[in-house]
Amino acid sequence: MNKITQCDCHLHTDNSFDSDTPAERLAERARELGIEYIAITDHCDILEWSDANIARSNAQAAWLNEQYDDLTVLRGIELGEPLQAPEQTAIALGLCEYDFILCSLHNIEGEEDFYFLHPDREKAQDLIGRYFDELLEIVRWNEFDSLAHFTYPLRYITGRDGVRVDMERYQPVITEILATLAANGKALEINTSGLRSPDGFLLPTVEYVRQFGELGGRFITLGSDAHVPEHMAVGMKEGIAAAKAAGFHAATVFIRRQPVEFPFE
Ligand SMILES: [Zn+2]
Ligand SMILES: [Zn+2]
Repeated sequence: MNKITQCDCHLHTDNSFDSDTPAERLAERARELGIEYIAITDHCDILEWSDANIARSNAQAAWLNEQYDDLTVLRGIELGEPLQAPEQTAIALGLCEYDFILCSLHNIEGEEDFYFLHPDREKAQDLIGRYFDELLEIVRWNEFDSLAHFTYPLRYITGRDGVRVDMERYQPVITEILATLAANGKALEINTSGLRSPDGFLLPTVEYVRQFGELGGRFITLGSDAHVPEHMAVGMKEGIAAAKAAGFHAATVFIRRQPVEFPFE
């Protein structure tokens, strides 16, 4: 079988508030698809995380990893909004041994998740500016392995609501974020979930992946952000094509927080 991808490093189980998928189903699906590495990255949105869910997710990943010779299951979290409650973030990071910390920002400080917002163009420009400002603080903080779904607000503002925004005005802060990520030796995620909506696109689009490489970025992680087994690896072909077009030759998986590169076939 010509496999779609060697790895999918962004997956949710029923230990996330927005998924009903038992972890075993993800492992089964990965084996059906011939995927060798998956990272379970249940939500740890720091303002409303559950230590019981994170501990369970971690234990399930570790247990599943013992069950198969042809599949590695990595213990990850999707750590959301880490700087909005730093003491909680420290507790979450110390709770378990992790392979992979995927860092994300779904809602900027004092606002709801972009999923719930329907701003007009002017308001959207303000919100996106604040999103990048907070993201810059996060990459300077640096206690993670890969930055998830960069340009997340566009999934809803443009992809869902069709509001076109001027991205050029953010280029200085975007450059600063990507350069900091690169200098710190961290990874940028190519998140393929956007491709599952009608007018969707990769998060981020290939131009930002290319900028990351030009600024010295070395590591790319691939994530479908699947909340159901059927979405595993969906869009990976496009994600890998974007990585290659941007000048990357490998996908990276984090094992015990260390990058391991897998050259594209
Ligand atoms: Zn996310
Ligand atoms: Zn996610």
